Amino acid sequence: MVEIRLKNSKSRKIEVLQPIIPGKVSMYLCGPTVYDRAHMGNARSAVVFDQLFRLLRHVYGAENVTFVRNFTDVDDKINARAAEEGREISDLTAETAQWYLDDTRALGVLDPNHMPRATGYIAEMIAFIEDLIARDFAYARDGHVLFRVRRFDDYGALSGRSVDDMIAGARVEVAPYKEDPMDFVLWKPSTDDIPGWESPWGRGRPGWHIECSAMAHALLGESFDIHGGGADLMFPHHENEVAQSCAAGHGFANIWMHNEMLQVEGRKMSKSLGNFFTVRELLEKGIPGEVIRFVMLSTHYGKPMDWTEKKRAEAEKTLRKWYGLAEAGDAVPEAVVTALADDLNTHQALAVMHKLNGADLGAALSLMGLWSGTVPDWAQGGDAADLSAYATRLSEAREAAMQSKDFAAVDALKSALTAAGVEVRMSKEGVDLVPGPDFDAAKLEGL
Ligand SMILES: [Zn+2]
Repeated sequence: MVEIRLKNSKSRKIEVLQPIIPGKVSMYLCGPTVYDRAHMGNARSAVVFDQLFRLLRHVYGAENVTFVRNFTDVDDKINARAAEEGREISDLTAETAQWYLDDTRALGVLDPNHMPRATGYIAEMIAFIEDLIARDFAYARDGHVLFRVRRFDDYGALSGRSVDDMIAGARVEVAPYKEDPMDFVLWKPSTDDIPGWESPWGRGRPGWHIECSAMAHALLGESFDIHGGGADLMFPHHENEVAQSCAAGHGFANIWMHNEMLQVEGRKMSKSLGNFFTVRELLEKGIPGEVIRFVMLSTHYGKPMDWTEKKRAEAEKTLRKWYGLAEAGDAVPEAVVTALADDLNTHQALAVMHKLNGADLGAALSLMGLWSGTVPDWAQGGDAADLSAYATRLSEAREAAMQSKDFAAVDALKSALTAAGVEVRMSKEGVDLVPGPDFDAAKLEGL
């Protein structure tokens, strides 16, 4: 079996993946808080761990890999957004979770084996918190339950910080119900207008961190192989997950993996810089999901990734070429698997693929989540060139119709283009044809 080596954020070393149950691998990834469209940074995490999931399935067999990615559907940001829009919370979270699935699937992200919603595991969270109280790692006060950070000796080990440094540097909240400013919330009271569940501490709702500990425990058991997430989650979220689960006597995750952040044209993506975009915005601009995925995988997950227009154009060119060369196949060349097994070196895997063609290339494209056996519509025959030929025909037909006053040919051509998913824009200046999201070049054949 191929040996997979991964950089463990906890030990800061490259380690050989040695599954707890030989031959079977379990993985947990912190999923989205569902109140808005996934942005490109969210998508990077989804794509990186999907690529790891695909590698694990390739090496261990799909039936031997269990991958859990949660939806956080109880959160104060969700409550605030629902209030702002005057909507039901459940309606907002259901819609946003579906958006997340639509957008990530468009990037070739496979559905994990389990996609638990936090609100489906409230009873498990309450039981988990009761256990932490019984072990003296947590205490209840004024309707809140807090984790007693200073009682957990290893606190800070994952992110490499000491508790005192954290207090000095962090925005720790001092509150009357806390024994120590570092203590974090496991449970908090809910007013009548926001979601709440009955608990031994009154009507309330869970803190964010306990959700992942409880869901990972319920679905993967006390110990599992890999825990993933964006580097921005390492502290405090992952540090708190470790504290809760290990204080409860669980082994929790053996290997921790964190993907680095995403930039745009060399700058941090932010709403104030005007370079913040969602996956949906790029897809609607006509950038294919395969192209977005290719750009994401062209940088190693452990490095900051820069989204640039240049990379997008190159990715599109390369993929068009590869789709022309590839044939269906399932024997992935060893060099591609070896690159991925080397701490998920997707950059190297893509570099290797430049030397492939035929069934080898097809199999490699499938493993990279870039091909499902047929050439995607956008890459068929170079739609841009084809459409310009139709644009010329349409404007010539229009000119002729101006003379003859017979617009039948123009209308027929227009409706055929529309039926093929092309947006037809006719003005005095000329004819503009824009392929829409449903553009199907095959429907133009024989026109
Ligand atoms: Zn989490």
